[in-house]
Amino acid sequence: MVSLLPALLGAERPPGLGDVADVRTWSHPDYTRVVIELTEPAEAGDVQRLAAAAGQSERLYLDLDGIWVGRRWLAGVDVNDGLLQRVRLGQNTKRRARVVLDLERIDRYRVLQLRGPDRVVIDVYGDRRDPETLEWSTSSRSTDRLGVAAKPIRTVILDPGHGGRDPGAIGHKGLREKDVNLRLARKLERILLQRGFRVVATRTTDRSLDLEERTAIAEAAGGDLFISLHANASPRRKTRGLEIYYLDEKDHRHSTEVAARENGIPRSEVDTLQRTLARFRVAEASVHSAELAAAVHDSVLASLGRKRGGPPDLGVKTGPFYVLFLSSMPAILVESGFLTNPSDARLLNDDAFLDALAAGIAGGLEHYRRSAEQLSAKRAP
Ligand SMILES: [Zn+2]
Repeated sequence: MVSLLPALLGAERPPGLGDVADVRTWSHPDYTRVVIELTEPAEAGDVQRLAAAAGQSERLYLDLDGIWVGRRWLAGVDVNDGLLQRVRLGQNTKRRARVVLDLERIDRYRVLQLRGPDRVVIDVYGDRRDPETLEWSTSSRSTDRLGVAAKPIRTVILDPGHGGRDPGAIGHKGLREKDVNLRLARKLERILLQRGFRVVATRTTDRSLDLEERTAIAEAAGGDLFISLHANASPRRKTRGLEIYYLDEKDHRHSTEVAARENGIPRSEVDTLQRTLARFRVAEASVHSAELAAAVHDSVLASLGRKRGGPPDLGVKTGPFYVLFLSSMPAILVESGFLTNPSDARLLNDDAFLDALAAGIAGGLEHYRRSAEQLSAKRAP
């Protein structure tokens, strides 16, 4: 049953239960994202799908064990974007809240649980009934049979990792990852603008930002490529080097430590996350993400190769990163070096090195843009 229990609504919050802190939605041309932010971790049940019945639209619902919302969200949050009518929340049992999505259209959905803050992300995919009502839905892209975006590559989303209350890795002599990432992003933005790209940064200051907010900014800006900038850390001081990640659902040879840190989850949860991601079709975009990673890797090596004592090349790798998964465009994550290694830390705090690294990344993006354009020119009738 999908009804919310009015009998419980007057009751006091039972001790030990969490609350819903916020409900946010974003309307993307291809899907609507619902984020339920929680004050405590909850056990989310499986999503149930109910066909439309007399007087009621099609619905999805899922239960959150250990959450008490009372009557606060009962009226719901109106969305009405042609895909989703409304999000409602109510109490199902004394220890279980229920999230109900009243739908207009749906093809498929996916659900992810994220940490820090604890939240449940539900993406509902489908063709909108009335796409013209959405201002930026006009950017929907035509794709050829290989899934290659025919739209020219223009907008690069730069995502400096961490920020605000989340410093990221803390390195040698207290060097903070969030500062290094932002500094590199600013340099990279300058070069990309010179080369005719449009650039949108997920943050330009030292502020906190959720992972799904980062990708929502990217989608809303109509981004074509997503570049997340990070720096690494290791308990072994000697470990150093630069590596580039992309998301591939098939590959299980991931780095547990890096994935745990960048996702903000315990190491013990990384394998579960990888399995969760593997249940979805991660992307038409994953082939393009692999090409993008290779182009940036080659270009960075060429750019840094001229500098002696640069970080060793650790290559292109795959890993389960929420920020890459939540993005619908070709996306990579650059780990610029190990902050915990004195040599890497010195470089990551050095303008000349960061300039060369930014030039290398920009060169890779330009190379990728050029080959994508040549490819679509070749395929044009
Ligand atoms: Zn990071």
